[in-house]
Amino acid sequence: MARYTGPVCRLCRREGTKLFLKGERCMTGKCAIDRRSTAPGQHGAANKKTREYGMQMREKQKTKRYYGLLEKQFRNYFAEADRREGMTGENLLKLLETRLDNVVYRMGMAESRKEARQLVLHAHFQLNGKKVNIPSMLVKVGDVITVAPTSKDTAKFKELIEGIDSKFSPKWLEVNRENISAKVIALPEREDIDFPFEEQLIVELYSK
Ligand code: SF4
Repeated sequence: MARYTGPVCRLCRREGTKLFLKGERCMTGKCAIDRRSTAPGQHGAANKKTREYGMQMREKQKTKRYYGLLEKQFRNYFAEADRREGMTGENLLKLLETRLDNVVYRMGMAESRKEARQLVLHAHFQLNGKKVNIPSMLVKVGDVITVAPTSKDTAKFKELIEGIDSKFSPKWLEVNRENISAKVIALPEREDIDFPFEEQLIVELYSK
């Protein structure tokens, strides 16, 4: 299935929650969810009962959209999470958090995961000193992510670097604001993921 290219606020309205897909705008009164939280479409405001399957499906869609993934990619992450030891739902979220594009976003170097994916695709970052352009690459403990030297002086990065102070970084990432880098000092734990996912619903959906 092709990547969704329509209005992203529509995705939030469909899921009934903020997915933070538009950066700063998501924090302002211009957020579409704050202005009109009903689902898009003619019958969006109807009071629909959500059945068990519907809830599981919505949770999967919400998680997939939050991380900006395609259906097949998401299924592959689930299969990998299921293969690993521990709770499948938690494994899934931890895998998604360690994608390189998410790490760049968590470093505060992009307004949204979509922007972070673009920055990685255009090889603006290095992983352990080597240029990378694969947003789905998974980081591991000890990895260091830096801005490529050729990108540091561009107007775009100067602006991003100036704004880095006010952004939030999780405790599993050690962000160095001096040389604009981040070191993975631990793998994320479930409690480090600050979005109210109900991952058990996704596990139930895929276990049918
Ligand atoms: Fe979602 Fe952000 Fe649009 Fe609000 S502004 S609806 S959080 S993408």
